[in-house]
Amino acid sequence: MDTSIFDKYETVIGLEIHVQLNTKSKAFCSDATQFGSAPNTQVSVVSLAHPGTLPRMNKQQIINAVRLGLALDCKINPTNSFDRKNYFYADLPKGYQITQDNQPICLGGEVPIKIGEEVKTIRLHHIHMEEDAGKSIHDKHPKHSYIDLNRAGVPLLEIVTEPDLRSADEVDALMTKMRQLVRYLDISDGNMEEGSMRCDCNISIRLKGETHFNERCEIKNVNSMRFAKRAINYEFKRQVKLMEKGEKTLQQTLNFNPETGVTTPIRSKENAHDYRYFPDPDLPPVQLSEDFIQEIKAALPPLPDALYQQFTKQYKLSDYDANILVEEKETALFFLDLIKHTKNYKAAANLMINKIRPYCQEHKISSSDFPIAGKKLSDFIQLIDDGKVSSAIAYQRIFPALIEQPNNTPLAIAQELNLLQESDEGFLEKLVEEAIAKNPDKVKAYQKGKKGLIGFFMGEIMRSSKGKADPKATNALLRKMLEQ
Ligand code: ADP
Ligand code: MG
Repeated sequence: MDTSIFDKYETVIGLEIHVQLNTKSKAFCSDATQFGSAPNTQVSVVSLAHPGTLPRMNKQQIINAVRLGLALDCKINPTNSFDRKNYFYADLPKGYQITQDNQPICLGGEVPIKIGEEVKTIRLHHIHMEEDAGKSIHDKHPKHSYIDLNRAGVPLLEIVTEPDLRSADEVDALMTKMRQLVRYLDISDGNMEEGSMRCDCNISIRLKGETHFNERCEIKNVNSMRFAKRAINYEFKRQVKLMEKGEKTLQQTLNFNPETGVTTPIRSKENAHDYRYFPDPDLPPVQLSEDFIQEIKAALPPLPDALYQQFTKQYKLSDYDANILVEEKETALFFLDLIKHTKNYKAAANLMINKIRPYCQEHKISSSDFPIAGKKLSDFIQLIDDGKVSSAIAYQRIFPALIEQPNNTPLAIAQELNLLQESDEGFLEKLVEEAIAKNPDKVKAYQKGKKGLIGFFMGEIMRSSKGKADPKATNALLRKMLEQ
């Protein structure tokens, strides 16, 4: 297929994103939710659906749903309620999933995503609360499947978007944004690899310029961005082929096989489940007072988009710097603390991006565990700003020493290591004289007009002073003596 199909057709995508919440206990009982425990060790009679057991709502799930809803500009639905979604599967002991069908907790909302230089807004249809099913394991035994019910009943939020996405790259941007947000809000670890975030991708195609939507397919349980991209691109081409042949895409639920790179139907529209949704009689509707919502709103942490605006507008940082600083909440908070102590925002950003963040990544620690506090780091910046050390020397020698001796001060370290910059005239004069005496040819060339040689002399003097010569004072003196 030639590349012109990308000019002729567009992909239309809507996502159903499942976020596993990091609550200590399950959605409707007190079983633990820890990931990676031995199979079937986190299952009580409620998870096992013994007759006579009753669900009881986990308040934290509601709080987390409201936090996410507020962060995404949703309308919080003050009276929302649970429904049963009935189907049979071995990893679903009750025979139904508790979910919200008719009255979800959050309505509408939107997510701005960045596509190149442009910001595009993806509208949300709603967010609802539900519970996860257990896990079926088909690859541990040649004949049998295993069931692990530790995950049965773990709280989920499902975010349903409008069909506003137009490419795999936009899907990537949205999922990355959602992961960042749930981590900022501390409601989920957002790890796709561990299944804490997965999505169903609804995909259709249409001729560019058309305004109606065509029949769609739904790819189930995409749990990595790489697979999502491959699955979407495969589906796009498959549907274009059908359309070019004059055939219709059938509404189907698909599975994507990462090994073959191909989507295969699980079921068609005719065989679609009838889940026979009905209100769950065991759970009363959730009533949210305005005070409760406002309390949650007041406790929201600073969020990445607002921080980005603050960093670029108020602190005049570049788009590049601001993006790195807001990527992770810990980095952003550390930076906010650092700039309480210094007004040199650019230097603080440089230090954060080039030294502190790489150090934390290398040592696999959070920025909040970085050994040197904001105040001392601002002293470090001040040392450079006062011209006491060059920034190269500070970064290469003083910073590592400071990490070794976090109780010492940057100035004391500079003194101990004999790194304080010299602006003393006598000291500099001697160095400049030496450099001039050693290079008579270059001096002549300079005096004949090759002014660029000033860089060569500066280099010589920096070397002979081991970086201690104050560049500004040296430069002035050098010019004076060369021109004599
Ligand atoms: P259902 O509730 O039957 O699963 P919805 O209409 O609520 O279906 O949509 C589910 C998801 O499918 C949403 O994310 C929506 O944006 C997306 N979607 C709906 N129609 C289309 C379409 N024609 N092409 C692509 N995605 C679609
Ligand atoms: Mg659906």
